[in-house]
Amino acid sequence: MSYIVNDRLYWPGGRRKCLTLSYDDGVTQDLRLLEILNKKGVKATFNLNPGLFGQENTVTAGKKEVSHIKLGEEKIASTYSGHEIAAHGFLHTSMYGMDSARCVKEILDSRAALEKLLGHPVTGFAYAFGAADETIVDAVKKSGLRYARTIKSTCNFDIPQDFLLWDPTCHHNDEKLFDLLSEFLSDEPYFNFYSPAKLFYVWGHAYEFDQCDNWDRIEEFVEKVSGREDVWYATNTEIEEYVRAYKNLIFSADSDYVTNPSAISVWIGGVFDCKTKEVRPGETVSLLPKTIM
Ligand SMILES: [Zn+2]
Repeated sequence: MSYIVNDRLYWPGGRRKCLTLSYDDGVTQDLRLLEILNKKGVKATFNLNPGLFGQENTVTAGKKEVSHIKLGEEKIASTYSGHEIAAHGFLHTSMYGMDSARCVKEILDSRAALEKLLGHPVTGFAYAFGAADETIVDAVKKSGLRYARTIKSTCNFDIPQDFLLWDPTCHHNDEKLFDLLSEFLSDEPYFNFYSPAKLFYVWGHAYEFDQCDNWDRIEEFVEKVSGREDVWYATNTEIEEYVRAYKNLIFSADSDYVTNPSAISVWIGGVFDCKTKEVRPGETVSLLPKTIM
């Protein structure tokens, strides 16, 4: 016999599903992507390089050559309104092999320039080229950022244990994308000791839809995943902030009471049970009774 304490993380509103998207480089194709997302209320994080604003180029990367034109500085704040802007390095440098000081400069310069433009703190980062060795991860930490995204697919819906190495579920071109979507939308219990709440994280570059001629892929994905009461559509920073608030909860030693010292509500519940409890900011409440298994 075991006692199960009903203290696991659930998403806001007691939901079990959360979707987030992450798109890199701040290219003009983001405009078309934003139109698709905004129509359906799906949120994303866009990772930008302030040192390259307005730069005009093309990209091939082994596929069809398409335009790679970065949006100009004056368009940034209004274009991405309602979504999150995060840092992606000042000049999109691959930092592999660079010393700590130069890594910090590349990361911190991008953060500071975006903050100047937006008028609020920037909390997130995406590793350019996915480059994330020990020196680079440490530089992200020293730059005061709270999370950083890799390009390593997990093909699962686990909430990251280490937000400075936040691995996405998959790229939008992953052949498993729609299978993963069905699994995500299913109400079958998702078993994970840390939390039964699912996090579906898709990343990419909007210019890849031009390269692969597959804008219909993201349109279909957004159509299927949007408009659902049981899904929390969030930016990366909203997720990191929420998980941090959960981790800041203070539990009594006997697991009977919990205090929420953060400024946002947190929902908790059991691994197997679907009952949840809201713990409001500054409140101390009793947990749901322990489940006997
Ligand atoms: Zn990039």
